[in-house]
Amino acid sequence: MTILDGKALAAKIKEQTAKTTAELASQGKRQPCLAVVLVGEDPASQIYVRNKHNDCVTTGIKSLMHTLPADTKQEDLLSLIDSLNADDGVDGILVQLPLPKHLDEKTVTERISASKDVDAFSAYNVGKITLGRGGFKPCTPAGIMRLLEEYNIEIAGKECVVVGRSNIVGKPMALLLLAAGGTVTVCHTKTADLAYHTRRADILIAAAGRADLIKGDMVKEGAVIVDVGMNRKDGKLCGDVNFEECAAKASYITPVPGGVGPMTRAMLLENTLTAYTNK
Ligand code: NAD
Repeated sequence: MTILDGKALAAKIKEQTAKTTAELASQGKRQPCLAVVLVGEDPASQIYVRNKHNDCVTTGIKSLMHTLPADTKQEDLLSLIDSLNADDGVDGILVQLPLPKHLDEKTVTERISASKDVDAFSAYNVGKITLGRGGFKPCTPAGIMRLLEEYNIEIAGKECVVVGRSNIVGKPMALLLLAAGGTVTVCHTKTADLAYHTRRADILIAAAGRADLIKGDMVKEGAVIVDVGMNRKDGKLCGDVNFEECAAKASYITPVPGGVGPMTRAMLLENTLTAYTNK
């Protein structure tokens, strides 16, 4: 069994990003820039945003932080996005989700220009992925694809099972696996017999957000198992997969932490660089 080491690969990607930005600086070029907007004081969001800021700082990407109060009016948030859209010095824009209840996430994320939508949550970018026409890929599924590629894991012809159908993980993950030639099944809360599907998986992506959902008797011998889940159990971070039971059968498996999480962050940096280069 081999651990899919997302932490190590993310470190390599960050090193490469830092090299690229250093080259740009030595040529007297503008620094790539990511604008991050945080509304309110959700503690988890504050940590995510701080991590993204630190990643930018350590890789030579300029990080513009906009922290707004929880009672920010939608029109004020939209006008901030408009001004970031219009700012030639800003390459990528990320609005940290979830937003406070009175703000409409759909309207807000759709307002970000497609060319700066480095989180790739807009209908335009999702449509491009669906049609196989390039565009930004959402960071978590993109990070998983990179991790599989790094370990030379073949996708074409494989049975791929994705547990979860959210717009930010499950659905785009299924589309990327499909584009890579996988035979894809998407499971969700209405799936009648989850284990029937997971047992058939050559590549299993667990993205349900339920601790211990995937047990050892639900996976096939030799399966590649990617655990996207980030759950708390007895105060400890854990995924959706029972690691001990599943690792005993898997050919490859991601740990939590140190698997998908660092890759998600690394892909945000890459998308920001791509947005810069596209200009
Ligand atoms: P979500 O709640 O939006 O979606 C969860 C999906 O799982 C839903 O489609 C639901 O139908 C399905 N599901 C839930 N319980 C199920 C069950 N018992 N059986 C079958 N399907 C079930 O969550 P999300 O935003 O897609 O995130 C999923 C998990 O991944 C969460 O734990 C989240 O914290 C984590 N996450 C991690 C990263 C990372 O970088 N590591 C990034 C994004 C999300």
